[in-house]
Amino acid sequence: MSRVHVIGCGLAGLSAAVRLAAAGLKPLLYEQSGHAGGRCRSYRDPALECLLDNGNHLLLSANREVLAYLDLLDARRGLRENLPARFPFVDLADTRRWALNLESGRLKGALGICKALPGVRPRDLSALLRFLFVREGAVVTDLVSSNHALYRPLIEPLTLAVMNGPPEAVSASLLARVLRQTLFKGAAACRPLLPAEGLGPALVEPALAFLAQRNIQPLYHHRLKDIGLSAGGVDHLEFAAGRSDLKPGEAVVLAIPPWGCDALQERFLPQVETKAIVNLHYRLPKSVDHKTLEPFLGVLGGRIQWIFRRGDVVSVTISDGERWMADAPETLAQMLWPEVAAALQLGEIDTPPFRVIKERRATPLQSPAAAGRRRASRTAFSNLFIAGDWCDTGYPATIESAVLSGRLAAAAILSR
Ligand SMILES: Cc1cc2nc3c(=O)[nH]c(=O)nc-3n(C[C@H](O)[C@H](O)[C@H](O)COP(=O)(O)OP(=O)(O)OC[C@H]3O[C@@H](n4cnc5c(N)ncnc54)[C@H](O)[C@@H]3O)c2cc1C
Repeated sequence: MSRVHVIGCGLAGLSAAVRLAAAGLKPLLYEQSGHAGGRCRSYRDPALECLLDNGNHLLLSANREVLAYLDLLDARRGLRENLPARFPFVDLADTRRWALNLESGRLKGALGICKALPGVRPRDLSALLRFLFVREGAVVTDLVSSNHALYRPLIEPLTLAVMNGPPEAVSASLLARVLRQTLFKGAAACRPLLPAEGLGPALVEPALAFLAQRNIQPLYHHRLKDIGLSAGGVDHLEFAAGRSDLKPGEAVVLAIPPWGCDALQERFLPQVETKAIVNLHYRLPKSVDHKTLEPFLGVLGGRIQWIFRRGDVVSVTISDGERWMADAPETLAQMLWPEVAAALQLGEIDTPPFRVIKERRATPLQSPAAAGRRRASRTAFSNLFIAGDWCDTGYPATIESAVLSGRLAAAAILSR
């Protein structure tokens, strides 16, 4: 079979490339930046002197596409798989602590939710059944309103974490798909999978190694500016560095986000609004016994939402983070550290060394209207395929969606 050009080396592009390579093809990969991973990457931070992720990423045992991708790469060891399906929370407003523990069986787990979540009675749980029958166009608050007992302790934090947007703005059907595959299936589907060393070693480097073994190296600093079309489909690619002509039979996987190439907007990529995520990484002082801290903690009643710990670095996530984009990193780190210290019960400690990473375009806004504009992997052109977390996979814009979209694009090419 002829060559395939994969544009974009995020997880969607890597997923497509490794599937094509596993089938014996030698795809050509192009990436605008100097590294692979896109919105899911690690780098060595000079200030904190350790490997940092651009942001906390939580995977669950229900993420079958990600696990299949890692199995193909023989790389499951990059994830910590031994964590129980237990989600600890603290409410900074009243310092109450609880854990959503799903390990106690499905029915017991459901009753456990009532016992664990503050103010929730058994009959409140029936609201979750609404996620089984979701009308197209509904937002999350159409199903569970903001004054419902489940809203504050469960629906709001879950929606922010999964959808990176507020419950009143995001698609209920995308969230419902995740709930049906996770919470509703119990502990076996909800065990957290955290990168052992980082997102790069866990999800990106194994793919690059798999490709390198087959003599496939991405071409970095290759930014796609436009694609040339003729009656037969794509006939050339225009990069900032020059033009690449396609031979008959060659195909293209466009694995870039909707905002990745202005010239392709509307023709192949939809116009989208984007949502930000702010991450703050703090290196704990030696006086803190970090091994006693939870690997992650949900936080209500403050401005921070989740705290993850890897070694002596704690990393804070603020989804739907537009309002913090203009603040200086020092201001944010100083302002939010007291919340971190309170949530982790560290007592009075000066703000430790930190790094702030603002992802202005972390995900598309996943409104019902935007969900309706998602694209399938096949296009009207027989040799042009699309991949990316924002594609019509049925999942929110997550790693699972990105990896699935890449596999679907590769499968469509291989079935030609
Ligand atoms: C802070 C943060 C936290 C997140 N948390 C989670 C989480 O907990 N769980 C989860 O599942 N998901 C999470 N996500 C979402 C997840 O990271 C993304 O869904 C996924 O990485 C998207 O992969 P992708 O390949 O579709 O897109 P991208 O990662 O954006 O990859 C696209 C690639 O294409 C390149 N590119 C763009 N334009 C061009 C061009 N014109 N020419 C050449 N190359 C181009 C880019 O440089 C990039 O490398 C989070 C995202 C962020 C930012």
